[in-house]
Amino acid sequence: MSVVALGESLGLLVAGRIGRLELVPTMDLGFGGAESNVAIGLARLGVPVTWMSRLGDDALGRLIERQLRAEGVSAATTLDPTAPTALMLKERPAAGSSAVSYYRAGSAGSRLAPEHLDVARIREARILHITGITAALGAGPRAALDAAIDAAKDSGTIVSFDVNHRSRLWSHATAAFAYREIAARADVVFAGDDEAELLTGEREPAAQAAAIIELGPTQAIVKLGAEGAYALADGQAVEQLAFPVHAVDTVGAGDAFVAGYLAELLAGASLTERLRTAAACGAIACTAPGDWEAAADRAAIERLLGAGDPVQR
Ligand code: ATP
Repeated sequence: MSVVALGESLGLLVAGRIGRLELVPTMDLGFGGAESNVAIGLARLGVPVTWMSRLGDDALGRLIERQLRAEGVSAATTLDPTAPTALMLKERPAAGSSAVSYYRAGSAGSRLAPEHLDVARIREARILHITGITAALGAGPRAALDAAIDAAKDSGTIVSFDVNHRSRLWSHATAAFAYREIAARADVVFAGDDEAELLTGEREPAAQAAAIIELGPTQAIVKLGAEGAYALADGQAVEQLAFPVHAVDTVGAGDAFVAGYLAELLAGASLTERLRTAAACGAIACTAPGDWEAAADRAAIERLLGAGDPVQR
């Protein structure tokens, strides 16, 4: 019942206080990455999960592997002796705002190629989880993504694709074309409403989900931030309201949501249950700072659900 999450993780330096980055004296060191965030979310929910990627032979690479192992995620990584692990800086220019700068060009993760994949692990897994970020990193990562999808499709592994558009990595038009190609080969597609519009040209969640299904997947989930989510799967449509929480940091909510959904999919839960757990995980992820640190475990979900389930339609 395992999951493989494929994609680059980056070292993360977060400004210790609000203000211009050049005047901030201290930064906290950690790491992040959409796919490893999902992997941690799944591990917290008790799902066996492997994170697959390429790292530099450096301290940031060792930090990422250590932390993932500490979270119960197994790492299937290859080391690139000549390229560094990527890095991102998160500054807080003003209260309530943040800005991220990436130092990822030429990174080990952006040199990922098909020969670096542990294909056997993908074949054995129940789910392969990928995002559009890998496709944006260059021809090698895109080829690796396609090879991973080939292996999954060959062996009945469910392909889960979260669009995760990064506008700084490529143009809208190039990205939209690639997302449509990948979505057409996926079984489960997650997209924020802006991403769903990019993918389908539609503006309403119901029309977006229907248009995603027309591309080929059997499950389409549109994430709507503090409004909740809309899903269409096997002919059934479900709307899920967000759980009201005091949100302090919404980064990573989408990844936590995906982890909750996939954990319930593996457990054979209904679409309504999958969405409820996903929304609970998304809400809980907003309640503390960090891209993955606040990912929910089962006890946290029980506590939130016990506090009152918002309306489902
Ligand atoms: P990110 O890329 O920042 O991780 P995303 O755009 O992929 O996020 P969102 O739609 O922001 O995903 O969030 C995913 C889910 O988390 C939502 O569908 C919702 O259920 C939950 N969520 C997000 N923001 C809030 C919030 N402020 N309060 C409660 N739940 C939230």
